[in-house]
Amino acid sequence: MLNPGIGCKQCEWCRTDDHPLCPDFAILGEHRHGTLAEFVVVPAANVARLPSGWSFGEGAAFSLATLTAWRMLTSRAHLREGETVLIWGIGGGVAQAALQIAKHLGARTIVTSSSPDKLEEAKNLGADLALDHASQDVPKEVKAFAGGRGVHVVVDSVGEATWERSLRCLGKRGRLVTCGGTSGPRVTTDIRKLFWYQWDLLGSTMGSDGEYAEIARLAGEGKLRPVLDRTFPFRDAVAGFRRMAAGAQLGKIVIEVGNG
Ligand SMILES: [Zn+2]
Repeated sequence: MLNPGIGCKQCEWCRTDDHPLCPDFAILGEHRHGTLAEFVVVPAANVARLPSGWSFGEGAAFSLATLTAWRMLTSRAHLREGETVLIWGIGGGVAQAALQIAKHLGARTIVTSSSPDKLEEAKNLGADLALDHASQDVPKEVKAFAGGRGVHVVVDSVGEATWERSLRCLGKRGRLVTCGGTSGPRVTTDIRKLFWYQWDLLGSTMGSDGEYAEIARLAGEGKLRPVLDRTFPFRDAVAGFRRMAAGAQLGKIVIEVGNG
């Protein structure tokens, strides 16, 4: 498996295992050529052993989403056993990894989707509460579930469409962690609530080499495993991208290079 985040390994950030802050940090498929190719070159430190029993498709699906969710919930939001976490949009890869990690950490999990099928699947994957964010009042349902107190951690990578509701779900000393803004990047926050409730608003992206080693170890122990949606041969790659553009997937879409 490949850790897709590549730092220079020499600067102050890389030397203190904080690679995503490296000035030369580059992500496979974004700043460097991606893995939809026959050959890929990465530093040896970015390669991990595929857990036994895993397909290469699972190995491909695992790294980026799991690493991103791991840093968000552990190093950044410090989610602990017995706490409650809200995860928006459970169809996405980072959200699904966050659900698995939150359960591994012993947290109670609330997930959302606008798709009844995805909510049903999320319950099968162990979500304690699954809410339809299109038809249900998420902050109201969350507060009812959390005994009127709000949650300890919110994972929000949706941005404009959910930010305000995310804050309404947050309890005292709550931590909101974001790794993206798929619905738009500009949000408003009432700073009176920010200071009065002593919230932490946290940004996070990718993860370090040390964090990658940790999730690779947990994968090897059978504690983390990606959910695959569908696997397409290379000749049908366009159908895979169309499926993703339509938001029809639950889990990761894999394109196999070299099998036709
Ligand atoms: Zn560096």
